[in-house]
Amino acid sequence: MAVSGFQFDNTYAVQLEGFYVPWQGEAFPAPSIVRVNDTLARDLGLDPAALDSPEGAAILSGKTPPEGATPLAMAYAGHQFGGFSPQLGDGRAILLGEIIDTKGARRDLHLKGSGRTPFSRGGDGKAVLGPVLREYLIGEAMHALGIPTTRALAAVTTGEDVMREGPKPGAVLARVAASHLRVGTFQFFAARRETEMVRKLADYAIARHYPDLVGTDAPYLGLLERVAEAQAALVARWMGVGFIHGVMNTDNMTISGETIDYGPCAFMDSYAPGTVFSSIDHQGRYAYGNQPVMAQWNLARFAETLVPLISPDDPDRGVSLATEVIDRFPTMYSDAWTAVMCAKLGLAEARDEDTDLARALFEAMEGQGVDFTLFFRGLADGVRGGAGARALFDDPAGYDSWHEAYTLRQSHETATPEARADAMDRANPLYIPRNHLVEAALIAAEAGDLGPFNRLLDVLETPFEHREGREDYAAPAPADADPYVTFCGT
Ligand code: AMP
Ligand code: MG
Repeated sequence: MAVSGFQFDNTYAVQLEGFYVPWQGEAFPAPSIVRVNDTLARDLGLDPAALDSPEGAAILSGKTPPEGATPLAMAYAGHQFGGFSPQLGDGRAILLGEIIDTKGARRDLHLKGSGRTPFSRGGDGKAVLGPVLREYLIGEAMHALGIPTTRALAAVTTGEDVMREGPKPGAVLARVAASHLRVGTFQFFAARRETEMVRKLADYAIARHYPDLVGTDAPYLGLLERVAEAQAALVARWMGVGFIHGVMNTDNMTISGETIDYGPCAFMDSYAPGTVFSSIDHQGRYAYGNQPVMAQWNLARFAETLVPLISPDDPDRGVSLATEVIDRFPTMYSDAWTAVMCAKLGLAEARDEDTDLARALFEAMEGQGVDFTLFFRGLADGVRGGAGARALFDDPAGYDSWHEAYTLRQSHETATPEARADAMDRANPLYIPRNHLVEAALIAAEAGDLGPFNRLLDVLETPFEHREGREDYAAPAPADADPYVTFCGT
């Protein structure tokens, strides 16, 4: 079956000359589809069966650009672990173009692992199967959890081995995103003092993501505020499911508010705010509990790029207006976090004391070895009249006093306990991508068995729903499991 139907409408390539290098993917020896995301393909107006073919594999590996594509490597810079790199860019990826999906939304189609580009620096431009499937799995899990994210359209093997700690099967992830505009994209031109280029980019970002700001009095300040709000909401959602991004560099922070770049990310098992999985994050810069602060830090870097646009004639005024937005971030975040926590706690009618109540819960959980995910399902079980979450605590004294306050707070709710518990189960997943399960699925996949990957993905696609016979997927790693470690740039 012929692969057709890519309805490209490529604004980035047409409107932002100078922000990229036109570039082709590598001519891989034998591209082969590992998995196509059928639902997402259909959302994009594509035929999944047609994509699952040698022709589809050639397209989705970057070997053969489809009709209408304008493949290119995007330029960007970024602060990585606090240090500024003026030139990063798509070192192993290309943007094929933009597709208008069946709902009318514009989506980037991007290939990660498609070979070297002018931005590769010392890298080989490649990706390998394990990390590609990891991004597929975790991105789709995040989507199913209702968290804004880039998504996987397909995973493709390239037919060549790539050297990592040994030879590994080379692979490409076909990724779909609201856009690939990053804080680092702005930094690339701001660092070069190319203010007119930053303006062009900001105008493009506003038209694409925040079009109601077009024609307003202060569109660039508005852009800063919207991105800050989007990131506050996003990080609050991460915190609500125990997600640790792991590499919140400014090149990995989107303007759209989607999660991007699933490298060293992982979900926390027992609650501990200092949790870090990344092998290189020795200082805990991107630890679970530090994510809101790092988001604010990144937004301050974004603000710096916009200052010359916010107030061209009076830089001091630009700085003070931008600073005012950044200073409001903790409030934006706290509001978003409280909303997430109220949903998790089954509190539909927001009250002033809810933020403190939620904070007190986290204090009670600290040092108790409580599984973060199971705790909230247990809490709902208690609301329903079951055994509850108490048994998860090593010493439940702190939890008991918190629970008294929670019980009192619940008396202000009008819904029945049963209805509240059901609402909690719709806000609190039973299944998250448990590290040991992800690892086992990837090891099997690299050995040629996709069964565990497919079964895990299937469970993660409906994370709130109890699945008969899938109880193991809800359980934490065995207590004697080795500490989990993740890696960047795999
Ligand atoms: P990341 O840590 O994935 O956000 O990547 C940071 C930067 O390194 C980006 O510019 C990537 O394109 C680049 N990069 C990561 N891995 C490779 C690789 N294997 N080859 C070339 N560039 C890479
Ligand atoms: Mg990145």
